[in-house]
Amino acid sequence: MKEAFTGRGAEIVAEDEPADVYIVNTCTVTNIADRKSRQYIRRMKKLSPDALMVVTGCYAQVAPEDVSSMEEVNLVIGNGLKGGICDAVFKAFEESRLPCERRVLERSELDEFEDMGIVVSSELGLTRAYVKIQEGCDRFCSYCMIPFARGRVRSRDADSVVLEAESLVEKGFREIVLTGINTALYGTEPEFTLSRRTGEEDMTPLEVIISRINSLEGDFRIRLSSLEPTVVDKEHVERIIRFDKLCHHLHLSVQSGSTSVIERMNRHYTREEYLDIVRAIREFDPLYGITTDIIVGFPGETAEEFADSVDMVRRAEFEKVHAFRYSRRKGTRADAMGDQIPGAVKSERITELMNAAEDVRREFERKNFSAEHKVLVEERSGDFVTGYTDNYIKVYIEDKNKELKAGEFCYTMLTGFTEDGCTAVRIR
Ligand code: SF4
Repeated sequence: MKEAFTGRGAEIVAEDEPADVYIVNTCTVTNIADRKSRQYIRRMKKLSPDALMVVTGCYAQVAPEDVSSMEEVNLVIGNGLKGGICDAVFKAFEESRLPCERRVLERSELDEFEDMGIVVSSELGLTRAYVKIQEGCDRFCSYCMIPFARGRVRSRDADSVVLEAESLVEKGFREIVLTGINTALYGTEPEFTLSRRTGEEDMTPLEVIISRINSLEGDFRIRLSSLEPTVVDKEHVERIIRFDKLCHHLHLSVQSGSTSVIERMNRHYTREEYLDIVRAIREFDPLYGITTDIIVGFPGETAEEFADSVDMVRRAEFEKVHAFRYSRRKGTRADAMGDQIPGAVKSERITELMNAAEDVRREFERKNFSAEHKVLVEERSGDFVTGYTDNYIKVYIEDKNKELKAGEFCYTMLTGFTEDGCTAVRIR
């Protein structure tokens, strides 16, 4: 959206600065996210009382009445209509702030992949670019609003994905991140068509695009933003990780280490099946980075079920755990479940889980000290540059002579710990 507005001559000011137009791209993953969006809208309107206030994103999609009933809001644009946001905003601005207007599609109408064009993280220079391949989810995990907010599964045309990746590599980007709401669902909708080439007959559509990007010329790497164990099994993962340009890092959301909780979450795998995937990855590369999400205090979570989550953290040797307290979300099945866990219990559990995760992370990083790591340099801060290893450890490399630049690869050895990663020395 930023790029679309800049292309039409708009000047983007820093967040929290006075402006003529605010576009608030909202999240609705928890009730707290909704509240924060409302607070932000009010704060910005106070800062610039005459500004046109446009609200889009998932909260606008699932609760358009709530959003448009706020007196601060002038325009509500749901998901699936963001492609036309520039026109809508310029028109509303010229017509000097209509009474609040709502443009929101029903979930069943969110049925086409909305191509927003090439998105580049320009703040980082020519380092990492994000290529969105897929939208929507049909898995309906019992705590999740995303299928309501993002609509049905729809996938971007394979040629368009590969063409964008190719043009980004040609521009000099060194890391192509394939993103989506649930990337493992890429190309799974019945209406998706793909003309396969020789050698691609047995591949899933996701493997096809990774394979095609993998075979592009150039010194770059591919990262998958995440894979859902609700969709992929061990055999899938074993096939995906073999592509040589794919980073040795996967984000595999486990959500709980307890099979019974996973079942109540309406996620279709067992703790053992998840650990099988982890074992297969570790057989391929013992230093493969695996990150995850875990929800603590899901309705009915017993002390034993929680202990299974802590045990999962240790067994899977996660590189990083994003731990969340379960948060009730109106309209989801989990919200209607009995035995909601008290806040104090959730707080105790999350502290215990995060402490375990921190120990495991340090141990994983320590194991990496003996290996050589290729790092993509991203930013400079004084005498150091920062970047990520292929297996997703954040590193701080001393570079007093300022030889390293953003967008360059260099080879390093890890030397010590920092709060959020490791120090490293360049070896070549
Ligand atoms: S697979 Fe992910 S996006 Fe889809 S419903 Fe489950 S948690 Fe939400």
